[in-house]
Amino acid sequence: MIAVSPVPISWLTLALAGVGLSFLGVLLGFFLAGRLKKTPLERSDTYRLRVATQKRLLDSAERANQGLQQAMEVLEWAAGTDRLTGAWNRRRFEEAATAEMALVRRRKGPVSLMMLDLDFFKNVNDTHGHNVGDAVLVEVVQIAREQLRASDALARWGGEEFIVLSPATRIEGAMNLAEKVRNAIAAKKFPEAGQVTVSIGVAEYALGENLITWIQRADEALYKAKAEGRNQVVTARSGGEAETSATPLIGIVWEDSFACGQAIIDSQHRKIFTLANSLIGAISSGQPTAEATMRLRRLVAHIAQHFHDEETLLARIDYLGHCEHAAEHHRLLEKASRFEIEVGIGKMDISQFVGFLVLDLVQGHILIEDKKYFSYFQTSAAPKPAFLP
Ligand code: GH3
Ligand code: MG
Ligand code: MG
Repeated sequence: MIAVSPVPISWLTLALAGVGLSFLGVLLGFFLAGRLKKTPLERSDTYRLRVATQKRLLDSAERANQGLQQAMEVLEWAAGTDRLTGAWNRRRFEEAATAEMALVRRRKGPVSLMMLDLDFFKNVNDTHGHNVGDAVLVEVVQIAREQLRASDALARWGGEEFIVLSPATRIEGAMNLAEKVRNAIAAKKFPEAGQVTVSIGVAEYALGENLITWIQRADEALYKAKAEGRNQVVTARSGGEAETSATPLIGIVWEDSFACGQAIIDSQHRKIFTLANSLIGAISSGQPTAEATMRLRRLVAHIAQHFHDEETLLARIDYLGHCEHAAEHHRLLEKASRFEIEVGIGKMDISQFVGFLVLDLVQGHILIEDKKYFSYFQTSAAPKPAFLP
């Protein structure tokens, strides 16, 4: 018989008890850890208060940032200088051009302007990034300045488009100047972007025309330079359209009653008509698809720029329907961009775009929606700045 002494039993009991306690300890550990996780700081009022305060701080920092941005835009506008390139802005250009036109009217000599646009600049951004694109814009301004005379003024017209005012200069002189600028830019090897070219349209001011029609002639000449292969200078015919600006058999016709009285909006609306007719002309005269697609792209890019500028101006005059108008722009631009993409990949025929252009954009938007803000520009007792920064 095996006698079991009480000592080993008590050791065994103790050992078992120890294991049991350890197990309980582990459980307790898990439990406590779980409790700590389950009673997170997030649940406490202090935490919630802290988060709310942080959010408020972030919101107010964001607001301060927006305020600062707006203040900088106002300063930039007031200073008449473009922040990125240091070139004049539109406001300053338009003031100077208006003064020069008055001199011409008093028979104090000629004045010309050139409209300059970087070729395929979107590719520079897409390939090398926006910062490289910005650096190219800065450098283009520097190169152009080196070719210009002290009396010439260089302004950023918007995006990658610049305008040069050349007082006391006839069309021939302006054309030579434009050629020098074009050559100098084409000859430059940009550090990352390589070669960059520009197309230029030149127009001498003709007595009897206003700033809008003068700029429009230069713009049409620029358009012709693009259509003929870019990296070239084209002059506008005196007081008329650029030489090959074809007037299509079918097209949309601008009438004076479509003008709202705000210089930028009116000139951009007119340009929509010009570019639309040019596209319709390319389609109806059976020009190669690549040409029509290029015109479509240019039109859509102009519509995007116009919507952006118009929204800025409508916000500035506190137009009550501003938000709805911007939403409508968004819808139209999305539709136009979809057309552009689908035409590009051959999924849609370009002529289908014309329906959208005439019915949605011109008839539905410019002639109906835009008319709703006309009275703001026409009756404003205390007019706000008429120019964009
Ligand atoms: P085109 O020869 O027909 O003028 O072709 P493009 O690519 O130059 O013209 P498009 O109008 O299609 O594109 C213009 C591009 O310019 C698109 C836009 O993002 C870019 N851009 C406009 N402003 C700035 C800017 O301030 N900085 C940079 N980096 N890019 C800009
Ligand atoms: Mg361009
Ligand atoms: Mg509009």
